[in-house]
Amino acid sequence: MDIIVLKPKVTAKELRHIVRKLESMGFKANISKGTERTVIGVIGDTSKITEDESNAFASMAGVETIHRIIQPFKLASRDFKSGDTVFRVGRQTIGGRKIQVIAGPCAVENLPTLLTIAREVKKAGASFIRGGAFKPRTSPYSFQGLGEEGLKYLAEARRETGLPVVTEVMDPRDIDVVLKYADVIQVGARNMQNFRLLQAIGAHDKPIVLKRGLSATIKDLLMAAEYIMAQGNNRIMLCERGIRTFETATRNTLDLNAVPVLKKLSHLPVIVDPSHGAGQWNLVAPMAKAAVAAGADGLIIEVHSRPEEALSDGEQSLKPEKFKTLMKELKAVARAVGRTL
Ligand code: PEP
Ligand code: MN
Repeated sequence: MDIIVLKPKVTAKELRHIVRKLESMGFKANISKGTERTVIGVIGDTSKITEDESNAFASMAGVETIHRIIQPFKLASRDFKSGDTVFRVGRQTIGGRKIQVIAGPCAVENLPTLLTIAREVKKAGASFIRGGAFKPRTSPYSFQGLGEEGLKYLAEARRETGLPVVTEVMDPRDIDVVLKYADVIQVGARNMQNFRLLQAIGAHDKPIVLKRGLSATIKDLLMAAEYIMAQGNNRIMLCERGIRTFETATRNTLDLNAVPVLKKLSHLPVIVDPSHGAGQWNLVAPMAKAAVAAGADGLIIEVHSRPEEALSDGEQSLKPEKFKTLMKELKAVARAVGRTL
């Protein structure tokens, strides 16, 4: 038993009674109030619930039915919540008809460069500015990011352009400082299974971009989302950003199958990062268009005014004019699949 569906006319007292019973058995109750029905997700190791115990729940006042969820992820699954999860960040709606574009440099390098890029992506129609202040670099000798200074520059870019800020947190110790400046926090591919980090950000209500790990399966990604959701935060965008395969012609293999697969298995919005997925700027536009055609709810695109001088990921960053052209082309693709941009 994983889900308790309540009767439309369930009373507050009946609901309290059910929740108390679950808690007395060591479970947590995740209450989700839909337009027609209230549903309780049972959080904990539900495999321990006996047939008798589950029958007892089925006959409690206010209970309509109980369900088992076959998948190991529960709160993230479509079985738990059939309608798409839609949430707002500032004036933007994630998971709705509009495809959201998050654009900006890989790393925040200095204030003037960031402001130039922020103004350009805003003009081209992006709705979020991205940029890392804490960078997960493969080499300890590469540029590691500006830390809080970089976050301050992002806040300045938001003040100038009105664009909400998406930025990465790598370590639970940095959560407080990142929360101070970010509108959306990104969990990078290398941290997708940093479970303590996932639990820590799950305890806050800040929206999250959760990137798929380099060698993570779709199930692993959904289990990572489950870690966050089990702490109460369900404002998550799942992000396909390419996986490691035997192919060496591109930096990663962008798994666009993941888009419809995730949309089927989960109610969470799904976005795609073709920049890291491809690793080369000239592949970004075709893969971005393919992602929108495949049903993505958003894109993350790296843009830099001088990619040749970028301190990280310059080779996969679009120049502002290329980004502008792409945004125009994306409009037509979005329209073809019944979306706006
Ligand atoms: C990034 O967004 O710059 C980044 C480091 O992404 P990923 O974690 O997907 O490699
Ligand atoms: Mn990058």
